Amino acid sequence: MTVTPAIEADVLRRQDPELADLLLAERRRQATTLQLIAAENFSSPAVLAALGSPLANKYAEGYPGARHHGGCEIADAAERLAVDRARALFGADHANVQPHSGSSAVLAAYAALLRPGDTVLALGLPHGGHLTHGSPANFSGRWFDFVGYGLEADSGLVDHEQVRALARTRRPKAIVCGSIAYPRHFDHAFFREVADEVGAYLIADAAHPLGLVAGGAAPNPVPYADVVCGTTHKVLRGPRGGLILCRADLAERVDRAVFPFTQGGAQMHTVAAKAVAFGEAATPAFSAYAHQVVANARVLASRLAAEGLAVTTGGTDTHLITADPAPLGVDGRTARSRLAAAGLVLDCCALPHGDARGLRLGTAAVTTQGMGEGEMTRIAHLLAAVLRNVTDPSTAREEVRELAGAFPPYPH
Ligand SMILES: *Cc1c(COP(=O)(O)O)cnc(C)c1O
Repeated sequence: MTVTPAIEADVLRRQDPELADLLLAERRRQATTLQLIAAENFSSPAVLAALGSPLANKYAEGYPGARHHGGCEIADAAERLAVDRARALFGADHANVQPHSGSSAVLAAYAALLRPGDTVLALGLPHGGHLTHGSPANFSGRWFDFVGYGLEADSGLVDHEQVRALARTRRPKAIVCGSIAYPRHFDHAFFREVADEVGAYLIADAAHPLGLVAGGAAPNPVPYADVVCGTTHKVLRGPRGGLILCRADLAERVDRAVFPFTQGGAQMHTVAAKAVAFGEAATPAFSAYAHQVVANARVLASRLAAEGLAVTTGGTDTHLITADPAPLGVDGRTARSRLAAAGLVLDCCALPHGDARGLRLGTAAVTTQGMGEGEMTRIAHLLAAVLRNVTDPSTAREEVRELAGAFPPYPH
């Protein structure tokens, strides 16, 4: 890998030293701390190069071959490449690569399948549902009648009996499976069966695991769900953006729901960068990466449990771990800020039961840096030492700086 191109460009430093300094400071922050935020990753220099390309200048409302603007021949070719690669990668009849974000993809999926006021069954927010799964602060909670299913108290696993019972009594128009924090695989066949029983659409919001699916390290929701929504910037390691996959018979409704219903012109530089990322994700190297992400997360989860944290569901099948630090005598929010001071950057999350906040962490970014199981053990040990106050933050910060320095995200 080479150095991030855009930041290095002398032209930016000459033209706008103030902003260039900020970008360099952010690059330094990313290279000297550990990015354990489950939704983050380091996209490749090729992806970043596509983002900084002249396609950023191009207006291309519409779809390849049917644009509202002239001069779209090359933009068309780039979008067709992205669509073809996404379809091949996930085995989908149809792909729409224009959603600006994961939330935009979900909005478009609802717009394609639902009417305002329809009932939708989704994982409740306190149990790991996303904002777009019925939060009152989000369009979803205001425009649809969301019913939340939950996780079992003892196991932390999706309560299938409750899903089935709520589907039978509430007769939702759509069922959503997907989460921002659930560390296990959703049972797509189960959700398909329930959706069929009550005549509901099944929407898989696979924003988090989609990269694992691409690498063959997680089950693919495409054969089961009517519509699959995703992001391209999480484990998938592409540019920030969204993606929708669906069956051929829903293609036109999905496309119209993205443009012109919920979006204007696509960001063609991002579409081009998505094409690059899908190309990368189809390689054996990416498959090895995806499997290493899971192997690392399993080790990190078991080491955190050994250090005394209460790991939800007792482990993970994915890149993602949630854990309650309370057994170490510290609550989630305090833990997050203490860890941030040590350079261990992660999130708080809701825990399945009670009001306490837990910690959510993931291994996508550190695995891209080349870290393996040995480093995961070291990170778990350091994290627990900081939370127990046996290592002071400045000592921990030095150790993090040294560890991060040995695995630069963009080596020279
Ligand atoms: C990340 C995520 C989203 C939203 O993605 P944005 O790009 O932040 O809008 C939606 N749903 C789930 C389940 C997610 O994990």
